[in-house]
Amino acid sequence: MGKRVMVTGGAGFVGSHLCERLLVDGHEVLCVDNFYTGRRQNIYEMLEHRNFELLRHDITVPLSVEVDQIYNLACPASPVHYQFDPVQTTKTSVLGAINMLGLAKRVKASVLQASTSEVYGDPDVHPQPESYWGNVNPVGIRSCYDEGKRCAETLFFDYHRQSNVDIRVVRIFNTYGPKMLPNDGRVVSNFIVQALTNQDITIYGDGSQTRSFQYVDDLVEGMVKMMNNTRQLIGPVNLGNPNEFTIKELANAILKQIPESTSKIIFKELPQDDPRQRQPNIDLARKELDWEPNIQLQAGLSRTIDYFRLVMKVKNYTK
Ligand code: NAD
Ligand code: UDP
Repeated sequence: MGKRVMVTGGAGFVGSHLCERLLVDGHEVLCVDNFYTGRRQNIYEMLEHRNFELLRHDITVPLSVEVDQIYNLACPASPVHYQFDPVQTTKTSVLGAINMLGLAKRVKASVLQASTSEVYGDPDVHPQPESYWGNVNPVGIRSCYDEGKRCAETLFFDYHRQSNVDIRVVRIFNTYGPKMLPNDGRVVSNFIVQALTNQDITIYGDGSQTRSFQYVDDLVEGMVKMMNNTRQLIGPVNLGNPNEFTIKELANAILKQIPESTSKIIFKELPQDDPRQRQPNIDLARKELDWEPNIQLQAGLSRTIDYFRLVMKVKNYTK
């Protein structure tokens, strides 16, 4: 039966895909967003849907609505955007978690937190299992995001232990796909936009650092499975694609799919505290959620490049 489902950050990259999926599954969707990095264009097609509702709201402020499930995704995810106003980033993670958990407690809703592989920091255990406690700098330029998300996890588990709130926590690894902003600043969208517009491809550092890239549809499937699992699994559970690539390999894979590009690869300074390596151990999700990613890099990049080709064609493209 259809449920009343709230998605915070629902106008963002992942959130808008999740809203679409929830509508297809027959739920009523309440999209809550302050449009910091989200945009109406991402949810444009849903606005007319009879089961879709949009609320412009900042989750650092409490909210009172009647819902059955809450997916808490509100938080800028690109370093460029979360470092622009780091205090607001921490507030969004921490106050946002308190507000969503308080709401879930009051209306007895299930609440899922979109946590992140960033809780592992610059990991010295590789690949990263959920049992690894991480290696995070508490005072660096990434800390507003990493520590904010870590504190949100703490709040989720304490509301669960203290007040029996029905929680789920997923740790999401680097995810890409259509609906990322052209100026998002993360590596996949940067390289694709640069290649399509014949600008230099900006590799930070020597490009030997690694990431494991997950296509957004795989993530959405994992989040929905986690929210609705009947094994009382609350997490944290890693959701990511274990196929690991160096950033240089990623740049070459993108250039290979855009053969007409005249872009050259250039090397720029590596940002402070940039993790050296990242790869999820997804044994837990495989075993308990019967989930694993199905879309590998080549196919996922191809769909994402098709999307950006269209977006870049739209004249006077604005947010
Ligand atoms: P995004 O920046 O595209 O989306 C975030 C959304 O949250 C935007 O629509 C933004 O406007 C909204 N938002 C930000 N602060 C808010 C606030 N205070 N109140 C209400 N809305 C607010 O990012 P994304 O890639 O879609 O990420 C979604 C979630 O998944 C985030 O919580 C992020 O930390 C997590 N995550 C994403 C990735 C990834 O690779 N995409 C990896 C790990 C974790
Ligand atoms: N990166 C890069 N060029 C860019 C953007 C990012 O080389 O134009 C690198 C960045 O330094 C990091 C990796 O790509 O090593 C992934 O960066 P992203 O911001 O996408 O995610 P995160 O660092 O949070 O995993």
